[in-house]
Amino acid sequence: MTERSEPRPNFYASGAIDRLSGQRRDAGWVAARLSDPETRLVPVWRSHNLVVEGASPRPVILAPEPALLAVASTVVFLGSVGTAMHFAVDLSPIEEPQALPPINGSGIFADLRTVGPLLAHDDGALLAYARGLLHWHSRHGFCGVCGSPTESAESGHQRRCTNAACGAQHFPRTDPAVIMLVHDGDRIVLGRQAVWPPGMHSVLAGFVEPGESLEDAVRREVGEEIGVAVDQVRYNSSQPWPFPASIMLGFSARARGTTIQVDPSELETARWYTRAELLASPENETFRLPRRDSIARRLIADWLTG
Ligand SMILES: [Zn+2]
Repeated sequence: MTERSEPRPNFYASGAIDRLSGQRRDAGWVAARLSDPETRLVPVWRSHNLVVEGASPRPVILAPEPALLAVASTVVFLGSVGTAMHFAVDLSPIEEPQALPPINGSGIFADLRTVGPLLAHDDGALLAYARGLLHWHSRHGFCGVCGSPTESAESGHQRRCTNAACGAQHFPRTDPAVIMLVHDGDRIVLGRQAVWPPGMHSVLAGFVEPGESLEDAVRREVGEEIGVAVDQVRYNSSQPWPFPASIMLGFSARARGTTIQVDPSELETARWYTRAELLASPENETFRLPRRDSIARRLIADWLTG
């Protein structure tokens, strides 16, 4: 008897890194790793990742140079890749990080949203992890309870309020969003927002609200965006989406009616598409499917092959 294989992970998920979460509290061990020449640093600057550009871009990973660690506003322990411990370093305080001697000429700071689809899977996952965690640090310098400054703790996987009378602990957050393929068996709904790249059409998506189940959020968002009631909400897969701080939770849902009423504050347009139309997508400025590294594309691909 053969076991069913696991579904393939989405891009940015399940990379090669072992997070070694049990080591985060061992401040002495973590500090010693920063002076180990085998250690590697993943530089981030204002939410941009350092990469070698080209048709097949790859991350620039640096040795633990004191010059880099001295200027970093935040250093967080990511885990191990093979035997090398990896840390993310936030170089945002520097105006021209490329001028730092350890970096000079080795690559450019690029937006993962742009280069992501061209990266190898494990590289994309590593850069998304570093970018997402440092973005959280950059937005949580003050306690949401009492307003006092916070400081990094647990090797960068927590922030603590510096006001002893408060002492609140804050944990890295990722905001859940549902993304759903609405079908009627033979067709699916794709919509388009005016701000998207020319021609791009995609499935519907929206943030989960407090007090909602994921299924509730799917039903509400579909109702709000296209005025269609759905049932048979089924989970597909998930994807970290650190742009800036989400996890996309992918579903399919069956439409109970086919009349679409677009909310113009949410979408520019939406309509039903057949398999034949999607398979014949010209992938140009008149019509294109979502980017290949997105769960939106995976939901469509799974439906086409299912
Ligand atoms: Zn506080």
